[in-house]
Amino acid sequence: MQAIADATTHLAAPGRTDARADSAMIGPNAITRIAEAVEAVEGRSAVVDLFHLAALDAMLAEPPTTMVPEGAVTALQQALTAKFGAVRASTLSWIAGQRTADYLLAHRIPRRAQALLARLPATLAAHLLLKAVQRHAWTFAGSGQFEVHYGPQLTLTLQGCPICRGQRASAPVCSYYAGTFERLFRQLVDANARCTEFACEALGAEKCQFRLVWHTRNDSRRAGKEIATNGLKAASIPGSP
Ligand SMILES: [Zn+2]
Repeated sequence: MQAIADATTHLAAPGRTDARADSAMIGPNAITRIAEAVEAVEGRSAVVDLFHLAALDAMLAEPPTTMVPEGAVTALQQALTAKFGAVRASTLSWIAGQRTADYLLAHRIPRRAQALLARLPATLAAHLLLKAVQRHAWTFAGSGQFEVHYGPQLTLTLQGCPICRGQRASAPVCSYYAGTFERLFRQLVDANARCTEFACEALGAEKCQFRLVWHTRNDSRRAGKEIATNGLKAASIPGSP
């Protein structure tokens, strides 16, 4: 397990200088992958218009490679909804989230850690992956408060979510995160894993909440129940982080 612990320490986004920076920052994927997704689906002129609407023309001209102010991420999400409507914006954000996960898998989560996670029972793989996600929550949550809850169902929560900040909607809108979580879980925990945002601050909820479920890999049913009720007995796993 130490190998995973060591490996996942490399998950950090580039450009971190001080985790306690006064102004909250978020990894550049929340900007660059949105640009990619919109251009792929809607075309170049649409992404130019989108970034102009968000007053982020400079970030489109020169895509960021280091942490960006979370206000830019919020502005881009608001512009996305304004330009495309809530449903299509959610789809585009989902695609961007999947691309963000692909980036993390290609550049931030070492291959040896991925190989180890893929061989572990789903429950243990999920637990270790979530520990890494929680440890690096500052890279995607900004000033938001991210937590993992293991019971009665596996739920991720984000209070003060920068993705839906300032938005009011009739359905959850933080599909950027849901798409990222689901893709990571499908690659590293279970090929049929699903992530659904079932409560969202954009609907007036106290916090955004994401449920993760999976059903197929080896011990999943029994262990899925165990992780939900006991939070997995990490202390019983030799060398677990
Ligand atoms: Zn939300």
